Amino acid sequence: MFVDSHCHLGFKDFGGHGIESEKILLAAKQNGVDIMLDIATDTPAFLPAIEFSRNRDSVWTAIGVHPLHIKDNPNFTKENITQYLAEPKVIGIGETGLDYYYSVDNKKIQKQFFEKHAEICSEFNLPIIVHTRNAESDTVDMLTHFVRDMGVKGVIHCFSGNVALAKKFLDIGFYISFSGVVTFKNAVDIADSAKYIPLDRILTETDAPFLAPVPFRGKTNQPAYVRHTAEFIANLRGILINDFALSVKKNFFNLFDKVKVKDFKQ
Ligand SMILES: [Zn+2]
Ligand SMILES: [Zn+2]
Repeated sequence: MFVDSHCHLGFKDFGGHGIESEKILLAAKQNGVDIMLDIATDTPAFLPAIEFSRNRDSVWTAIGVHPLHIKDNPNFTKENITQYLAEPKVIGIGETGLDYYYSVDNKKIQKQFFEKHAEICSEFNLPIIVHTRNAESDTVDMLTHFVRDMGVKGVIHCFSGNVALAKKFLDIGFYISFSGVVTFKNAVDIADSAKYIPLDRILTETDAPFLAPVPFRGKTNQPAYVRHTAEFIANLRGILINDFALSVKKNFFNLFDKVKVKDFKQ
C-alpha cells in the first residue's frame, strides 16, 4: 500500500544490506510498505544494491554518484552506471544533483556529474532522482535544460522548499517527493507545498536512515515509517489515506515505468 521512493538500505545503519536489512524489510511489510527504491550513492555500492534487490519483490534499485560522494569517485565514467542498466531491477538514475550546503568548493564538478547522469537518463529513457540543497536556482536552470533539450523526466527527492519553488519543478514536469521532514512542527512551508502539489505529482519517501518522521524524529529512520509521512500528508489534504496511498503508487509506476505493473506482486 505505501511507497518508500527513496531509502538507503546499504548504509551502515542497516549493516550494509546485511541481516539488519532483513528485519527492516519485515517491519516494512508489517506496516504495508510494499515498494521501496533503494538508492546506491557511489560506484562500489552499485552491485551490492542490485544483488540485494534481485530476489526481493518489494525492492528496486537506483544507482548514481551522490554530489557529496564525488570526491570518492574521481574516475567516474558513465560506463560505471551503464554497465548495469540491463538489470531489470535498476529503474532510476541517482541520486545526483547539487549540494552547496556541505560542499561549495566544487560547484563546477558537481554540475558536470549532474549533466553526465542526465545524459544517461536521456539515452536509456530512465528517470533522474535529484538531490538539491542550497542550490535551488542552479538546479532549476539545469533541470530546465535537461527537460527541454534531452527529454529527461524525474523526481525532486526530499523536497524542502516553499510553494513557489515547488511550482518551478512542477512547471517542468517533475514529481516531488516528501520525506519525514514534512511532519516536523516548524516545517510550515514544506507542509504548505505538500498540500498544494497536485495529487498526480506527489511521492513519499523516508531517505532512511535519515530524517525519521514524527513520532520517531531523531531515531534511525526505516522504510516502515513512511506510513507516518503518508498519513500526515493525507490528513493535511483532507483525503482518505487509502486514496492518497493509491495515488502515490500510481505516480511511482508512472515515473519509474521500467517496472511493468503486471510484474509487481501485491
Ligand atoms: Zn539526498
Ligand atoms: Zn538519499
